[in-house]
Amino acid sequence: MKYYICDMCGARIERNELRYVVKMNIFAAYDAMQIELSDLEKDYEEEIHKLIKKMEHMDPKQLEEDVHKQFVFDLCRKCQQRLLKSPLGRRPEGSKVSDELPPFDVDDFLRQIGSG
Ligand SMILES: [Zn+2]
Repeated sequence: MKYYICDMCGARIERNELRYVVKMNIFAAYDAMQIELSDLEKDYEEEIHKLIKKMEHMDPKQLEEDVHKQFVFDLCRKCQQRLLKSPLGRRPEGSKVSDELPPFDVDDFLRQIGSG
């Protein structure tokens, strides 16, 4: 691959250009359970069998996505800046998201992280 494509705007990102990677994990959240003595005395075998039966008729892909899904995106700097300002794409009323980028020296950045 000679270049990347920004997954947000479609811009071409050359291999020597600064590229950002966004990893997004969406997973079912649960609160830690408080286990009571009565919970330990229950027989869960039947409940587990019912759950397995129910899952047999479900789409495996949908089941997996209901529990956990990961996305990985390549972004150009412009889109990285946009994402930092509004990670969920929401804008407070009356606010403007500027397309103007703060100054950034790619070569200096690469030298600082030791790969330039
Ligand atoms: Zn972009």
